[in-house]
Order: sequence, then structure tokens, then C-alpha cells
Amino acid sequence: MNILVSQLPSGGVGYNFPTVSVSPMTFYEITKYLDNLPPEGDLLSKYLYDIKNLTNEDKNILDCYIMDVDFLIFYKKLITVSEKLTFNLTIKCPNCGKDIRKTITLDEDIRFKGVDPAVMGGTEIELNGHKYETIVPTINDFMGVFQNYLRSRRLEDLGIIKTISLIKSPYPNQVEDDVLNATHDDITLLLALKDLYFDSVNPITVHCSCENNKKPEERRGVVVSVDSLITDFFREIYIHNPIDGSKILFKQVRED
Ligand SMILES: [Zn+2]
Repeated sequence: MNILVSQLPSGGVGYNFPTVSVSPMTFYEITKYLDNLPPEGDLLSKYLYDIKNLTNEDKNILDCYIMDVDFLIFYKKLITVSEKLTFNLTIKCPNCGKDIRKTITLDEDIRFKGVDPAVMGGTEIELNGHKYETIVPTINDFMGVFQNYLRSRRLEDLGIIKTISLIKSPYPNQVEDDVLNATHDDITLLLALKDLYFDSVNPITVHCSCENNKKPEERRGVVVSVDSLITDFFREIYIHNPIDGSKILFKQVRED
């Protein structure tokens, strides 16, 4: 299945291939996927595993930006379980405790913050008194930084590792130091960079009927982050989309 790179979150700026290939997994592939899935708490290995799951099908994905690959990880799982590109969510309302059901549709609910082509060329920043250039890392760029942390496990936070990978420098230890120990204005700068390049999907807001009597501006709703859906996607699907009687018919046990 081919996806136009112009439809990816980055808009495909700077890619020298028009499409990438991402196909739904077969049952056999899902079984293999789940059998080899790294342990629950090991987010770094899980991320690497999901990246490999994509690049095994299309090597060009190594040259895609991280923001696009994050989307493709989600997309591959979504097309695997749903032809219509929808899936069901059940969330407990924090106010009344009722279950809220919502069908999520790729076109309507998964909204990307548009990435401004002007920022795709990178920026110049000053962090802890050091001047740096930032790049928009592709998976290949990111791997240079990521492998380091996969080995050393000095950091387990994927968000911080991704942020470090934005900064181009011959002094990786200094960059790590400057990011980890950032204070004041530097924190604002790093959050802005992270927001610009990685938090590219808007959270989904779900509303409960207990707020129906409130004025629209007073309704808060429940916010679901798409990131949390991506990490445990198949488990979510299994919990929220149980097989119903239309797919499987249990034989009645005769009671004599
Ligand atoms: Zn409620």
C-alpha cells in the first residue's frame, strides 16, 4: 500500500521519493510481532522494534523524518485492524465514572498540527551559552544518537532523546548536558522545539453526556493523547473492540 509523502505530517518537504510503502499486517505477522515484542516497560526497544517493522518493508522510511515515522507506526497498526480506518475507544469519565464510547476516524479525529515548511530547514539556537544548529532528524540521523542510548541506557525517556537528536554538534556529551540541565529560558526553548517537531498530533477530546447541561464553554471533556494510543495499540484494540456475535458464534452447551 503506497502513501504519498505529501500526505505525511512533514508534507514530504525535501524527500526524493514520492511515496512510501506501508501494508497492513497479516495474522501471521501480528502473531510474530506480538511474540517478539520487547517487554512492557522497555519503551526504547519497543520504539526501535516498531521502526524496524516499517523499514523492513520500505528502506526509504530510513530517510523519513521522525515525525512522519511516528505517524506511520500508528498508521500501519490502524490499517491492520480496520479497513475503514476507524477504531473504538472506551474511556472512563473522570467526573461521573461512566464509560464514554467513541469511534475514532483517521480523517476526522487524528489532526496534525501543520508543520510550517519554513521550519523544516532547521534553526540556530543558543543553549546554556553554546550556539547550535538544529536539524529535523530523519530516522537515519536519529539512529546515530539513539543507538548510543540503547547501549548505555543512560536515558530512558524517548522525548528527551528525540530532543537531543534535533541538535547537531560534534560534542554529544555537551549537548546532553545542556539539554538535561537546561533552566529558565532554555527550558522554554526546548519545549518549543519539541512541540514544533514531535508533538505533531493534536490530542483527541471526548465528551461525556454528564456535561450536556453545561454551557459549551464550560464543557471540559476528556483528553486522550494519540501517543498513548500508539504505544499500546494492539492491546487497546483488543480491549475496546471485542469480537461480537457477528464474527464468532459459540455453540450452545446442552444441559441434560
Ligand atoms: Zn461523565
